[in-house]
Amino acid sequence: MPPHDHPLWRPYTQMKTAAPPLEAVRTQGSRITLADGRELVDGIASWWTAVHGYNHPHIAAAVARQLEAMPHVMFGGLTHAPAEQLARRLAALLPKGLDHVFFTDSGSVAVEVALKMAVQMWRNRGVAGRTRFLAFRGGYHGDTMGAMSVCDPDEGMHRRLGGYLPRQIVCDLPRSPAEASALDGTMAAHRETLAAVIVEPLVQGAGGMRMHPPETLAEIGRLARRHGLPLIADEIFTGFGRTGSLFACEQAGLVPDILCLSKALTGGTMALAATVATGEVFEAFWSDDPGAALMHGPTFMANPLACAAANASLDLFAGEPRLDQAGAIAARLAEGLAPLSRLPGVRDVRVLGAIGVVQFVRPPDLAALKQRFVERGTWVRPFGDIVYLTPALTIGTLDLDHLLESVRGVVHETLSA
Ligand SMILES: *Cc1c(COP(=O)(O)O)cnc(C)c1O
Repeated sequence: MPPHDHPLWRPYTQMKTAAPPLEAVRTQGSRITLADGRELVDGIASWWTAVHGYNHPHIAAAVARQLEAMPHVMFGGLTHAPAEQLARRLAALLPKGLDHVFFTDSGSVAVEVALKMAVQMWRNRGVAGRTRFLAFRGGYHGDTMGAMSVCDPDEGMHRRLGGYLPRQIVCDLPRSPAEASALDGTMAAHRETLAAVIVEPLVQGAGGMRMHPPETLAEIGRLARRHGLPLIADEIFTGFGRTGSLFACEQAGLVPDILCLSKALTGGTMALAATVATGEVFEAFWSDDPGAALMHGPTFMANPLACAAANASLDLFAGEPRLDQAGAIAARLAEGLAPLSRLPGVRDVRVLGAIGVVQFVRPPDLAALKQRFVERGTWVRPFGDIVYLTPALTIGTLDLDHLLESVRGVVHETLSA
């Protein structure tokens, strides 16, 4: 019988067998303090959100001011300066053409909105039957229904929900010009039923930290354009400096039709997401017919506290050398992880921006690995067959070296066990 005295149900967790979670009581910079007084150097930045480190005073002050003035107000029929300002700033920072910003409260919902935008765009234009999506194996786009349907259907974590989800067209990411022609054929075969193509630019995050070169991304963009298919770029993981540029699409010179943001949008302080569309997409909803409007509107849409945090986070990107810091982290990760690539049990070591990945030949005992990292005073969360680091872009050299030392140590221990 399961216990009845503990009401918390935890994320992605087998409640029967998982080790109990550690209790965190404080964060600061790149450190997490536990209830028992231990301090961990954070290698994950809380699921890639805390790009400026924890408790950045500039963000904290902005949120505190907003809390005094107006913590929340409904977004139907009302607007407010934090949202107006944030929409303008995002449109100015994103690749040219992405000018229409729709706020929601989580990455999965930003993806849902992107999918709805694409489907309804075709309906509004009077084109019937375009309700499916072309997605890529190894992809991860979130945990809600539409988002789950465009994740990897076989290796992804939602495979038990198969019969419940809409069936999409799932392809391999091309690795060469020859493979790109296979994708060309698939697009040609399905174009009449496809609403859009969805991709995580440059790196598939939660699906296994798989990377592809900018040329591949540019080729996917070219093929989609050739077949008249809108492209949705899910930059929820890659946005805000993680891959070394502010947005990953920039590296391929790609302007998607729809782009999703969340994770680091508020600098890791608050739930907020955005789906940003080009004028061409927006135009399909511009009508005298109320039924042609985009039918979405979360209760906490454009929450003023979250928008204030996001504006403060953008101030930091403007005023502090975050992209240079990402570049410096990339160099240190490459140097620090390189020795592991020679080990027989290691399949691959790869780095892109502030993302460093070690992939094992065989999936390791994840619970044991997680425990070893904590024993070394670090917070690192391996999954599948990989150990990875995605630290805050502001992490100090000593803390980063501690993380690298800890990864090298744990990988060695794992392979010699
Ligand atoms: C995390 C993530 C999502 C889902 O975001 P949530 O805020 O967890 O719903 C979607 N797409 C990508 C690429 C992500 O990394």
